[in-house]
Amino acid sequence: MTENTKLIQGRTGPWEVVLGLEVHAQVASNAKLFSGAAVGFGAGPNAQVSLVDAAMPGMLPVINRRCVEQAVRTGLGLKAQINLKSTFDRKNYFYPDLPQGYQISQFKDPVVGEGEVLVELDDGETITVGIERLHLEQDAGKSLHDQDPDSTYVDLNRAGTALMEIVSRPHMRSAPEAAAYVKKLRTILVYLGTCDGDMEKGNLRADVNVSVCRPGAYEKFRATGDFSHLGTRCEIKNVNSYRYIQQAIEYEARRQIEILEDGGKIDQETRLFDPG
Ligand code: ADP
Ligand code: MG
Repeated sequence: MTENTKLIQGRTGPWEVVLGLEVHAQVASNAKLFSGAAVGFGAGPNAQVSLVDAAMPGMLPVINRRCVEQAVRTGLGLKAQINLKSTFDRKNYFYPDLPQGYQISQFKDPVVGEGEVLVELDDGETITVGIERLHLEQDAGKSLHDQDPDSTYVDLNRAGTALMEIVSRPHMRSAPEAAAYVKKLRTILVYLGTCDGDMEKGNLRADVNVSVCRPGAYEKFRATGDFSHLGTRCEIKNVNSYRYIQQAIEYEARRQIEILEDGGKIDQETRLFDPG
């Protein structure tokens, strides 16, 4: 791909897009990250909930060795540093489908550090996407709004299920590159048997970080590592198909360019993808 194909023409001149992805992959394992409850699709509501998942008083989480092994295996597949010491942290939320009131996640010391993924593009070019980290964390349950006209029901089967969050560097430069990266990552996970890769069930989903800048700025960022050369990013949450990833990027890049060309500035924020 030539440099020029990455340019987006605006009213005031050309722009480039910069993309970094956070991919959530459900760990292939029989039990949850900190409890012995079964993990699986299709069980009746709240049939796979232990006292730990329901956050009953006095429950103590116990790490599932298998999930740690799966994270390490994935790290090796990403040519990444495996950290011999890693720790878990609490990230507080107030959500009806998270009875603990916090997610157990990894902040300062993730199980896997820096790595890389080689991504073959359709035109034969290969790009290298840097991996910043991979950490383990718990998934939340599900609120069901369509079961009853007056009430919301909560299904905790998914609560406490292990996720790997794989954070890339902002090394992708177009919507097709981002889709190709997720495809390659999925191939690696499925080959290793660490995630089933089922995007329709949400077992692999991406948060897409998008910013735009003028030509030349990205090269300065790569040469110096200084993020101030890049534009402000917005994060599009939970996009679960290759097509939606590309649509979300194209829409978001256009939105940012229009704001900037009108003299505005981008607020760093989290946005939701609406296929419509
Ligand atoms: P947060 O938890 O706030 O989302 P993370 O560090 O987990 O932060 O993820 C940040 C993501 O955003 C990474 O994938 C990173 O590559 C990407 N990113 C950071 N700066 C930019 C930028 N200017 N443009 C695009 N993506 C970016
Ligand atoms: Mg994020």
